[in-house]
Amino acid sequence: MKKGLLVCFTVFFGLCMTIGTVQAKRVFVAIGTGGITGVYYPTGGAIAKMVNKKRDLYDIRATVESTGGSVFNVNSVMSGDLEFGVVQSDRQYQAFNGLAEWKDKGPQKDLRAVFSIHPESVTLVAAVDSGIKNISDLRGKRVNIGNPGSGQRQNAIDALNAVGIDYNKDLDVESIKASEAAGVLQDGRIDAFFYTVGHPSGSIKEATSGARKVLIADITDIESLLAETPYYAASFVPSAAYPGAQNEKDAKTFGVKATLVTSAKVADDIVYAITKEVFENFEEFKKLHPAYSILTKESMLKGLSATIHPGAMKYYKESGLIQ
Ligand code: GLU
Repeated sequence: MKKGLLVCFTVFFGLCMTIGTVQAKRVFVAIGTGGITGVYYPTGGAIAKMVNKKRDLYDIRATVESTGGSVFNVNSVMSGDLEFGVVQSDRQYQAFNGLAEWKDKGPQKDLRAVFSIHPESVTLVAAVDSGIKNISDLRGKRVNIGNPGSGQRQNAIDALNAVGIDYNKDLDVESIKASEAAGVLQDGRIDAFFYTVGHPSGSIKEATSGARKVLIADITDIESLLAETPYYAASFVPSAAYPGAQNEKDAKTFGVKATLVTSAKVADDIVYAITKEVFENFEEFKKLHPAYSILTKESMLKGLSATIHPGAMKYYKESGLIQ
């Protein structure tokens, strides 16, 4: 009897140890994205889906968090609150080099690039009744430049500066999240909002399909800004993406790229697994959002200004994408 009890106890104890070991091995990683009506949120979901499918192999469980955007994501990855973040390529450059929002904190030297994703354009959404057709028409208007954690806030300030508009003095400025801006525009509480985003995005669809008529305004006369900054390039918002918008032509603007970043402190095997699963299942990944339709594997290695994480580099070398 005593012997039987001992065997039971040993088996039970052994089982607990095994379960404990398995649980200890499972790694949870969080990917910071943006508002749920943007493109970062489904992008985080697409990346998580790729790696979670292989949980038997890697024991990684990736989750997605809706956040305030690029600046919030960089800071959370640096503090260790998030393992990965979707971040605009210009913010990646500035964080790594200690510019703009990171001027006081200094260079974020532990920031690491994984890959870049879809193009994003600085999109100025305006109500037709406000008479805004171009960024230069914004003087004296109620304009949302974005919440402080967002990527678009500095893009809006840069573009406004380039055309001689001081956002503090010349605008009735709002600092709300992009996910709320469409509703606030439709309610008549603002005249226009900036959103740096891939297309099509849920937020801009929402803004352009309400009762108040809305268009995507041009952002022109920014040649000096484009010439001075390595991270901005001329771009456009395709009118075909938003049938509800009152645009006859594509809107002129400038843009950046969405990128995936992590920290030097995140283990190589985790970054390797995520990189490998996205690249090895590339055609399936591309189908997950229309903004990815133009992606190539090579294009996903452009627009990275932080050092590439060694886990990602291992995959790029192994696959021959980087010699
Ligand atoms: N580019 C925006 C930002 O950095 C987010 C866009 C999106 O969520 O798709 O805040």
